[in-house]
Amino acid sequence: MTIQFDRPVIIRPPSEWRSYFLPLTSGCSNNTCTFCNYYGARLQMRELDDVKKEIDALASYTRTGICLPCVPQVVYAIGRSWDGKRVFLQDGDALVYPVPRLREALSYLNESFPALERIGSYATPQDILRRSHDQLTALKKLKLSIFYMGMESGDDKVLQKVGKGVNSQELVEAGKKAREAGITLSVTVILGLGGIEGSEEHALKTAKILTDIDPDYAGALTLTLVPGTPLYKQWKQGEFHPISPMRSLEELKAIIENASFTHCFFSSMHASNYFSVRGTLPRDKERMLTEIEEVLAARDPSLLRPEFLRGL
Ligand code: SF4
Repeated sequence: MTIQFDRPVIIRPPSEWRSYFLPLTSGCSNNTCTFCNYYGARLQMRELDDVKKEIDALASYTRTGICLPCVPQVVYAIGRSWDGKRVFLQDGDALVYPVPRLREALSYLNESFPALERIGSYATPQDILRRSHDQLTALKKLKLSIFYMGMESGDDKVLQKVGKGVNSQELVEAGKKAREAGITLSVTVILGLGGIEGSEEHALKTAKILTDIDPDYAGALTLTLVPGTPLYKQWKQGEFHPISPMRSLEELKAIIENASFTHCFFSSMHASNYFSVRGTLPRDKERMLTEIEEVLAARDPSLLRPEFLRGL
């Protein structure tokens, strides 16, 4: 019996806005993170034939402009503005897709779209650690060349509390392994994830493992408590104490101040943040810190993104 694959909604890194979104899975294999709206989500693997049919439909559409009624209209909706250069594999961790099938899907994509420049995917640290160096380099050759890995925190206590399923050492190993395979690494950390009590340690230990991983890109997000998640419940029950917006800037400052990078594009442009800063580290460190310090010195809430404009 074939199980109907439920196409996931598009959740993507900001830099993938021009990509074609090709689902290989739905949900996330590590659905235990207590702050995440994937918490408890069922993981579904899409049939490879189904993936290939979508690639065929997209290839035919880009050649002829013809839309077939039997193809989900979302294929054409995305395909219409697609420039043929980038593909983002959905969903929460498409790297969990079994390697032989993943290789076949990537080969098929490359054959169908020879001008493809880059394929990207979310990857959990567990997914990366499960793959051998040779498997990762083989995937890289097939243009799977950027991983987006949520590291959230460098503090083992926080990682354990939020159910990340790995410790800081494993995060570092996973990050280094991706980079050693020549895969560009973009990581995210979450300001406020340690709550008030764990704030300082969370920021300093996060800076430490960012230094150890030395990623190509790092993005700071700010914790948003999502109704229905365990962390939201803990907050409502008085067991988790969120930090203030100004404190999130102090965490951001501590991370930028204490992390050392070779060459990293660091940004807090994500809509969840109260203040946006971006630049290449170490080059722009002083300028970025000054921008944050000015807001912290003014203590003026009107300089922060209003709550109603924050997004996930
Ligand atoms: S691994 Fe990532 S996508 Fe999966 S539940 Fe955790 S935070 Fe969410």
